[in-house]
Amino acid sequence: MSQFAVIGLGRFGLAASIELMRLGNSVIGVDSDSKLVNTVSEQLTVAAIADATDESSLKELDIGSCDAVLVAIGESLEASILCVLLLKSLNVKEIWVKATTKPHHIILTKLGVSRIIHPEEEIGVRVAQSLNYPMMNQY
Ligand code: ATP
Repeated sequence: MSQFAVIGLGRFGLAASIELMRLGNSVIGVDSDSKLVNTVSEQLTVAAIADATDESSLKELDIGSCDAVLVAIGESLEASILCVLLLKSLNVKEIWVKATTKPHHIILTKLGVSRIIHPEEEIGVRVAQSLNYPMMNQY
């Protein structure tokens, strides 16, 4: 069992969090939207209402001791980058980030994050592979 944090509980972040829980891990979910956090609080180990660009909040949640952190903030480039910088300063080694634009990708590459995810492109490729080999997908 590993300890993960997922920052941003939109469709992508929440789906990842629930799957990590299903696989037997511990997940701290963080989102600034209190309504959203309240609706998912039962499904995660910890669900916290916090601004992920606020260093003291991340420290309070002990995000620095997580094995890996997934940053799933989509639209705000500024928040995503600030959060990554804070995670670096908290010494998180494994940082995976959802990127939305080319500039976002370039900045994340420079920051040395472990993995940059482009959900739409990645799922597009997976779907094409399944369409190409529909039978293979069942194994
Ligand atoms: P998805 O496609 O996964 O639904 P999205 O790409 O549209 O999401 P956003 O809705 O912009 O991305 O962000 C995902 C979540 O991140 C939202 O629930 C939002 O409240 C949260 N979020 C955005 N900024 C912050 C922040 N600074 N701190 C914490 N959570 C944040």
